[in-house]
Amino acid sequence: GSITPMGRSDAPGGNVKVVVRVRGFLPREIDRGAECLIDMNPITQATTLLAPNDTDAANSRFKTRKVEEKMFTFDNSFWSHEKEDHHYAHQADVYNCLGEEFLDHNFEGYHTCIFAYGQTGSGKSYTMMGTADQPGLIPRTCEDLFERIEAAHNETPNISYNVRVSYFEVYNEHVRDLLVPVQLNQAPCYLKIRESPTEGPYVKDLTDAPVKNITEILRHMKTGDSNRTTASTKMNDTSSRSHSVFTIMLKQIHHDMETDETTERVARIRLVDLAGSERAKATEATGTRLREGSNINKSLTTLGRVIAALADPKQQRPGKRNKDIVPYRDSILTWLLKDSLGGNSKTAMIACIAPSDYDETLSTLRYADQAK
Ligand code: ADP
Repeated sequence: GSITPMGRSDAPGGNVKVVVRVRGFLPREIDRGAECLIDMNPITQATTLLAPNDTDAANSRFKTRKVEEKMFTFDNSFWSHEKEDHHYAHQADVYNCLGEEFLDHNFEGYHTCIFAYGQTGSGKSYTMMGTADQPGLIPRTCEDLFERIEAAHNETPNISYNVRVSYFEVYNEHVRDLLVPVQLNQAPCYLKIRESPTEGPYVKDLTDAPVKNITEILRHMKTGDSNRTTASTKMNDTSSRSHSVFTIMLKQIHHDMETDETTERVARIRLVDLAGSERAKATEATGTRLREGSNINKSLTTLGRVIAALADPKQQRPGKRNKDIVPYRDSILTWLLKDSLGGNSKTAMIACIAPSDYDETLSTLRYADQAK
């Protein structure tokens, strides 16, 4: 049979996962006595957004629509509050539920992509990067990756591994290398995007650092993160307005002892912290902010459409010209990630939500809902 660009996807939507994670209260929310507007059912995985107690006031504030309870169901729901019979989702739980399965897929030779979506302050970077005490998906993936490679050295000595890492951010449809130190007195250096007939779109001159162990990869991760913060501070807090893409390239070189032939399998592991979804609204913005907002809007909308197209079994029929349907080219982010979305790749969207923000949470849950 012919192989379609979408590859094999036997189970409908089997390669796309959409999950939701609510964060706990922050000290300032506790101080003002914020109410929890989220309920999650650990059995059905349903997430309910409750109407605020003061619904009348809220309804008069939002004259155009009614503030009411809404329910959504995703593949997984990660809870962070005290409640009987309801498990608090720690960083390890998120990794065990998602990261591990995705890494299995990488070792089988396929690409994966995990996105964190949500408003600023909803827990995207906590989920992806985490803190020194509570490492998130990125450091956990790195650790598990090198543990598996170490174990494989003894079990399958005929396979050798080559790991490289890159880290870039997309700000206002421009790409910046996060592994290159920020020059404090210079304008930010943006990289060009090229398209290779065999490899597809790529970032020209992007640092692609070889790493031999967990220490080296974590050092690059930290360098990139601190470059992102420095650049962001220098440029008016851009980090909530940029998408950061951490990529691990895993190459497995398989040496057949009998025939003396070698075969290679390459998998890209993409871990993406998206721009704050509230930035996509251009309310009252002008000039640079308006352009930024519309670029963020374009990339988040395109990403949602791309993921929805991948999850839709109707679009994956053999012979269907998927290239025309999936709008990768509509934003820099989706265009650059094209190789890791679709085909035999697995994609996950983690919708991050704050516990007491009706409007932004509704918008995030709706976004996640249309992506699945
Ligand atoms: P974002 O990246 O979406 O802007 P952050 O990840 O910076 O948001 O989260 C905002 C704050 O909430 C941070 O202080 C972070 O440590 C805290 N936080 C987020 N998610 C959790 C969680 N699941 N458990 C504990 N603290 C969290």
